[in-house]
Amino acid sequence: MPIHLLPPEVASQIAAGEVIERPASVVKELLENALDAGAAHIVIKIEGAGQRLVEVADDGAGIPAAELALAVARHATSKLQTAADLFSIATLGFRGEALASIGSVARLTLTSRPPTAEVGMRIRVEGGQTGPSEAVGAPQGTVVRVEDLFYNVPARLKFLKHETTERRQMDALVTHYALAYPQVRFRLEQEGRLALQTSGSGSRREVLAALYGVDVAKSMLEVLSEEDGLRVTGFISPTSLTRSNRRDINFFVNGRPVQDSTLTSAVVQAYHTLLMVGRFPLGILFVDVPAEWVDVNVHPAKAEVRFRDASKAFSAVQRSVRRALLAHTPIPELEQPQIQWPVSANRPMAPEQFGAAWEKPSSSEGLEGYERQAAMDGSPIAQPPSLQPSLSNPILRLVGQIATAYLVAEGPDGLYLVDQHAAHERVLFERMIAQLKASEHGKAAPAQTLLAPVNVDLPPASARLLSEQLPILGRLGFQVEPFGPAAFLVRAVPQLLMGMDPAAAVRVVVEDFEEDETPLQAEVEARLVARICKRAAVKAGQTLSPEEQRALLSNLEACSSPRTCPHGRPTMIHLSVDLLERQFGRKGPR
Ligand code: ADP
Ligand code: MG
Repeated sequence: MPIHLLPPEVASQIAAGEVIERPASVVKELLENALDAGAAHIVIKIEGAGQRLVEVADDGAGIPAAELALAVARHATSKLQTAADLFSIATLGFRGEALASIGSVARLTLTSRPPTAEVGMRIRVEGGQTGPSEAVGAPQGTVVRVEDLFYNVPARLKFLKHETTERRQMDALVTHYALAYPQVRFRLEQEGRLALQTSGSGSRREVLAALYGVDVAKSMLEVLSEEDGLRVTGFISPTSLTRSNRRDINFFVNGRPVQDSTLTSAVVQAYHTLLMVGRFPLGILFVDVPAEWVDVNVHPAKAEVRFRDASKAFSAVQRSVRRALLAHTPIPELEQPQIQWPVSANRPMAPEQFGAAWEKPSSSEGLEGYERQAAMDGSPIAQPPSLQPSLSNPILRLVGQIATAYLVAEGPDGLYLVDQHAAHERVLFERMIAQLKASEHGKAAPAQTLLAPVNVDLPPASARLLSEQLPILGRLGFQVEPFGPAAFLVRAVPQLLMGMDPAAAVRVVVEDFEEDETPLQAEVEARLVARICKRAAVKAGQTLSPEEQRALLSNLEACSSPRTCPHGRPTMIHLSVDLLERQFGRKGPR
């Protein structure tokens, strides 16, 4: 093929691909335009997971009639004159590409009226073709409607994620902007439902409550520090509130959301030794520096920036987060857990010396990979005793409880140490899964109606997730009803979970849900049940009566996979008689 210039439509579709990757990119660009226009009130409407419609209406400065056609042209902007201006950018936009890009891959309608204009003007762009401007009645400000995104780029459509994922992305995006701009009133409607509403009062803590619910908002720690022209503000989670990934650590640099793995690891490092391995904090942090300290023009979608002095930004973030943490969290004394063996104290027995008594668990219940980190914490994994489920004639004879965490039992072949939490998790898990199975045959799980229904507030993304899981919860014996845009009423809980905080049980369903999780239904159910059981099970540190201890042992014996908890950690450690005899020198080494 000879070299030829691409037709303008093709060239602009290619360029658009960099800016508009998915529905959330449209939302981002339109939000930024509204904020740049000085809007005090922004309403976002989303239908068909953003593919059918994204509409953003603002009450900002508007676009003069004469400039309307320019606004949708490529490289046309009111925010930049010379390339030098790039290093003193005070607006979110500057590339003059967003509206043109959107117009080339969707049907765009732009309606605008500046405060001084008598009437509004409207212009349409479809697949890169700009129509004429016409006068219309319109409120002050700008309304941008984007319909049928990627209708002319079928390849792009195929790359969109599951609708749930796309919606969650948009939720998260609007959420973060609402936090970054608390003085602006945001309203987000998804599929005709109010998903988010902020007051515009200027209080970030208040926005936090609208987003994460009052409880989480109250518990978040405030970060506030300024040194050397670098300001770090925002919120981080207390050490008790964690996630299984880093995705809830978000940054705004000079008012723009950026992905920056260096800054993210600065936060993670600030929590060093305070969180369990594999757990990560939540945080939303606003880094403000003089405009000339950052290059904002390094990414077509403006998702990254480059700091002139990256290590300065890193250490400022790490220090300010650490300071906020220390102000609120007592640092636990770090002690290396040491195994003390009374007899051969100078020769502690290494786990591998247990020999055949130790092996890795196999995951038999389809939770492959799930919370694997937790199981990989280096603890030795016990070999299962060959248990024969028999309730009438228990195999394990209870000896007692030690360290309010482990049950000591004698079995057919030696001593068993049972982790009460892991064991209880396993018991609850198998029972709940059994009830799910029974519910498939129309047998309702036994439920306990609460005397007074309990209210649960959730951030919008979690609220939608929970709505999607309501049928499974119903089959488990929960009765949960939507109660407003992001709140739910819990009316009944499964009998198995009696005594557990109903709100906590419901919350745990949507905690830590992986963004791209679209697993098979059975897997969703198993994970969800595992999550609930983990929260509901008795904890280490809880004293159990001898009856409770005995019941736990016999319930464990009745399980089909008694040797591991639903997450793959061992429920018990077995010290065989043979091993004891060798350790006491009654038998020679093998
Ligand atoms: P950029 O934001 O990078 O300048 P855009 O393509 O997003 O490029 O927008 C082009 C121009 O259209 C902007 O520079 C601005 O003048 C105008 N514009 C876009 N959206 C709005 C809005 N909501 N209110 C007022 N003006 C707008
Ligand atoms: Mg813009």
